[in-house]
Amino acid sequence: MRMNPWDRTGDPDEGTKELNRQHGVLPIAEYSAWVKNRIQHHGNGQLVIALLGLGGEVGELFEHYKKNRDRGRPIDKAAIRLELGDILFYLTAIAEHEGIALQEVARANIDKLIARDGVNNERYKERQ
Ligand SMILES: [Mg+2]
Repeated sequence: MRMNPWDRTGDPDEGTKELNRQHGVLPIAEYSAWVKNRIQHHGNGQLVIALLGLGGEVGELFEHYKKNRDRGRPIDKAAIRLELGDILFYLTAIAEHEGIALQEVARANIDKLIARDGVNNERYKERQ
């Protein structure tokens, strides 16, 4: 029987766990500081560059899914991880431009979803 390339029954966190084993957990604030430093030194800290970069990288992610789905191939998680990283880079650059910490973005998103949908995530609620 042919495997469904869109099946996600494996451990979705295994890649993350392996990276954490190899390199340690990367705090979100440390990543933000790294992005801020990089865009300052590469001169690509302009908002328009970050916005265009974000759009382009989202397109690359879409393209990866489209091509693999069209051809019945399994998703390459390593490639998806790289594209999500590209998206995260430009997202972080936009947040930095606006003086918003990525941590604030994540927290505000959780708060918004809980306020909208009700407290439906017991694991998050327990951490409060
Ligand atoms: Mg890319």
